Amino acid sequence: MKFGGSSVGGTEQLDRVAEHVLDKRALQPCVVVSAMGKTTDALFAAARAARGGDIDAALATIAPALGHAEAVAGELLGEHDAHALAAIAVVRDELHVLLRGVAMLRELTPRTTDTIVAYGERLTSLLLAALLAQRGATVLHVDARRFLRTDDRFGHARPQRDLIARLVAEHVAPHLRAGTIVVTEGYVGATAEGYTTTLGRGGSDWSAALLGEALAAEEVQIWTDVEGVLTADPRLVPAARPIDVLTPAEAAELAAFGAKVLHPSTMQPAVDARVPITVRNTLLPRGAFTTIDPRTDVAARNGIAALATRGPVTVLTMTSTRMLATSGYLAKLFAAFGALDICIDLVVTAEISVACTVEPDAPIERLVEQLAGLARVEIARDRAIVAAVGEGLRSAPGTVERACRALLPATPELICFGGNDRNLSFVVHRDQAAAAMQRLHDEFFPAVAPAKAAPARQPRPAARIAPAAGHTFEASP
Ligand code: ASP
Ligand code: MG
Repeated sequence: MKFGGSSVGGTEQLDRVAEHVLDKRALQPCVVVSAMGKTTDALFAAARAARGGDIDAALATIAPALGHAEAVAGELLGEHDAHALAAIAVVRDELHVLLRGVAMLRELTPRTTDTIVAYGERLTSLLLAALLAQRGATVLHVDARRFLRTDDRFGHARPQRDLIARLVAEHVAPHLRAGTIVVTEGYVGATAEGYTTTLGRGGSDWSAALLGEALAAEEVQIWTDVEGVLTADPRLVPAARPIDVLTPAEAAELAAFGAKVLHPSTMQPAVDARVPITVRNTLLPRGAFTTIDPRTDVAARNGIAALATRGPVTVLTMTSTRMLATSGYLAKLFAAFGALDICIDLVVTAEISVACTVEPDAPIERLVEQLAGLARVEIARDRAIVAAVGEGLRSAPGTVERACRALLPATPELICFGGNDRNLSFVVHRDQAAAAMQRLHDEFFPAVAPAKAAPARQPRPAARIAPAAGHTFEASP
């Protein structure tokens, strides 16, 4: 059971989470938590302030989050849980020492950053473990650094799954089997030398999936503040509604294209271990939820499972005469991207030009320099990707036509289709992304007339057919 930042953000929320975990104690839950609310942002900001040498600013930046955690701890645990309150005071003291060190040295390495930002998850996990203990549960806080072994790419460490399996079997599984609830930190890991690492922003979901895999769990539950994965971002499309089932590849595609539901890497371990992932609403624990399962019946839908958008992105159009009848041209072009560590999202080619999308902060000036003599580069900033995702898209007749017609009068600047069987992507000006989402949603997810009693959603579970032959999972970043 993984609880996100909004599910553990305050007294009421933590109280609800504790009740919820206790409710499920017969299922031997292993609990993974995120940092409370925006604590991770505050920790990053404090670390940056300290690097500038301003310790007062750094401490002031983190003070509200620490004060909030201490207030919540006081309220929930009361004065008599001296042990838990002391553990939380230790977190505060260690953080202050670290920030002072950074401020004195005016040096902030990625390794130190990870050590600092990991305290957010540490606070919540200590707090929740203490709370469960106070309510009579047999509970153990296990430091994630004992089992979540990673490499040393600080800030976006890669988990070492074989080692994790072994360490989880040693440090987590025996407690669960004995009926002890285990509470641990998401997002945080450690290298073989014991240096603290993090899995990248939003990485707690991934932690939960890694644990689910290592424990061969029945299910990985991602508890958040929405009813599962929605057909679109409800801030852009108010009529967006929860989806019953998705394939892992669809979920990964949606995550990669901007749906802020799950960390894109979450699906891989769950797929490999064949553990279904459910995305559930902490506020409505018995309400609707989404199941991400490879056995999803995709034949039952209209070709599109959900929409996502991501922006701003920058479109680069590279034009050269050398592309005519030459081989190896694209390799040379993309080698320059690789050398500068620029990730490409979408690619489209024409006779003598290639267009692709990159992140807005990519070192484009340096790229243009490197490509001098090879290609002329046109740069279009402030664009957005609008993606329609659904298994079997390539073979669903008329879907592309319907989507293009729905977008009218707007015409997309780029169209990407056929790279796999589940993604149809458009690039539009950033200002048009919301309207494009709305129009596509109207087309593919028309409001269900209230007169009809037919349910808007498919019956559950719709996991009936196996994935098509040749289906491969390809979402590992
Ligand atoms: N607390 C981390 C973040 O804000 C990890 C997570 O919440 O998944 O990115
Ligand atoms: Mg998250």
